[in-house]
Amino acid sequence: MSEEHIVWHECLVNRADRNRLNKHKSALVWFTGLSASGKSTIAHGVEKQLFDLGVRTYVLDGDNVRHGLNSNLGFSPEDREENIRRIGEVAKLMVDAGLVVFTAFISPYRKDRDSVRKFFERGSFFEVFVKCSLDECERRDPKGFYGKARAGIIKNYTGISAPYEEPEAPELVIDTETLTPEDSVKRLIGFLCGKNLIEIAHG
Ligand code: ADP
Repeated sequence: MSEEHIVWHECLVNRADRNRLNKHKSALVWFTGLSASGKSTIAHGVEKQLFDLGVRTYVLDGDNVRHGLNSNLGFSPEDREENIRRIGEVAKLMVDAGLVVFTAFISPYRKDRDSVRKFFERGSFFEVFVKCSLDECERRDPKGFYGKARAGIIKNYTGISAPYEEPEAPELVIDTETLTPEDSVKRLIGFLCGKNLIEIAHG
């Protein structure tokens, strides 16, 4: 079937209706940072706290998505771009469905992150730069990938043999070299409260 036969169906229930039912707004919190900087740790830690407060949440995490939705994609710049585009589209549907969504992907290219940002209106997309030096990430190396990248066993590894472009104007920076994981989670919860994202769930 060609594209002109596809018609966007107007829904009888919209995002605002779902937000009212849930008693909180929906939004996308997009983490970016080097591997081992702490994206997953913070995303899951924040999700647990929000869930316990009655907030409907979901974490889209790097490895899980690459095993399923994006299992046909590799790590070339083109495939990385498509990886992020698909995640952005899925996150958009989830935000429309009323969830507070967290994405934990290296997402190394500024233009790819900016193209996801364009899907959302102000106040619905928060780019969080999980800041940690390459030295410290290599020291942590929880999965042993940096060692393999240094040895040339893993190719196109961000920070070693592929670039990472730091965000220029993220909504929040969390420096995981100076903060503990617990304090990093608190920092983000405080930020989201400040944006009135979870005010109703609190009250
Ligand atoms: P990423 O998802 O960015 O690849 P992970 O969350 O999987 O990173 O791993 C980060 C590692 O760094 C974990 O072992 C975690 O315990 C550790 N870590 C140390 N300090 C922090 C912090 N402030 N925030 C998050 N993780 C931290």
